[in-house]
Amino acid sequence: MKISFCCTGTEPTPWLAGLRAALPQAQVELWQPGAAPADYAVVWAPPQQFFDQQPQLKGVFAIGAGVDALLRLRLPPQATVVRLDDAGMAVQMAEYVCHAVIRHFRELDVYAADISHGQWTFHKPRHRADFPVGVMGLGVLGQRVAQALTQFEFPVNGWSRSPKVMPGVRGFNGRAQLDAFLASSRILVNLLPLTFDTQGILNRDTLSRLQPSGYVINVARGAHLVDDDLLALLDSGHLAGATLDVFRTEPLPLKHPFWQHPKITITPHTSARTLRETSIAQIAGKLEALERGETVVGRVDLERGY
Ligand code: NDP
Repeated sequence: MKISFCCTGTEPTPWLAGLRAALPQAQVELWQPGAAPADYAVVWAPPQQFFDQQPQLKGVFAIGAGVDALLRLRLPPQATVVRLDDAGMAVQMAEYVCHAVIRHFRELDVYAADISHGQWTFHKPRHRADFPVGVMGLGVLGQRVAQALTQFEFPVNGWSRSPKVMPGVRGFNGRAQLDAFLASSRILVNLLPLTFDTQGILNRDTLSRLQPSGYVINVARGAHLVDDDLLALLDSGHLAGATLDVFRTEPLPLKHPFWQHPKITITPHTSARTLRETSIAQIAGKLEALERGETVVGRVDLERGY
């Protein structure tokens, strides 16, 4: 069995060593243009040429959870596409989102500013009942985030395509319940996949429906958000702030207004990183399962786009 590794922006040596150790029966090679065709591919942001030269691939493993960029390429139609299923990302995402929610709720930035000015000032405590959090996307990451938020006793709403039942989470589903979900939420967390249906979903109309002084946390993809609409709602005061980890163009261009905006906190697409060892173990296990003719979790539905 031959595996071709083609991950742009990733140091290949430790991945190749890890995949070879986990799959000693396989021949694992770093892809070069013109390389002999492989049976399976491990990829991140490969060029179209990679797939054009490998029409026989049986399976394609993404080393991330989001496959929006991968699905924009022409893939071999018979190939099973598999994305990472948690692989250590869910707990990271829960840490990041809970941190952002609590930083906003507890006014920790306000305290930090006070302290930097030598001020020992108390602010009136806020009530968490006044800060319902809405999690868009109740998949692998969204469920973990929603569950973590319930541990801090925030009221939590969740929105997904199909109905979900989670303890402590008020479930909404489908477009018909989107407005009610937004109107019930003050802090909005986006963990949707980027698809035809969800691109631009964080826009003037939807964000205006959040409770007054809303707060936006986008940790999914930059193209979910209409940047100018967010800026307008922050400047009008309808939104109190935003924490953004993902952007339409990455790295975020230095001239972009998000860099300097006083109500926006940005991080460089780091909320949930791919953990190499865990990911290799997961990919190896799933590849072997596919070879045995078994179904695997994390298989991407190409029609749905996630
Ligand atoms: P999943 O596929 O497990 O979950 C997706 C969720 O979104 C599901 O609950 C799904 O509903 C819901 N959904 C999809 N389309 C719609 C729609 N049209 N309307 C309503 N709900 C919808 O994905 P993950 O949780 O693993 O990952 C989510 C995203 O997070 C990734 O696609 C990626 O873009 C992003 N990400 C960002 C990272 C970062 O570092 N910033 C790291 C990793 C991922 P249903 O359950 O009904 O199918």
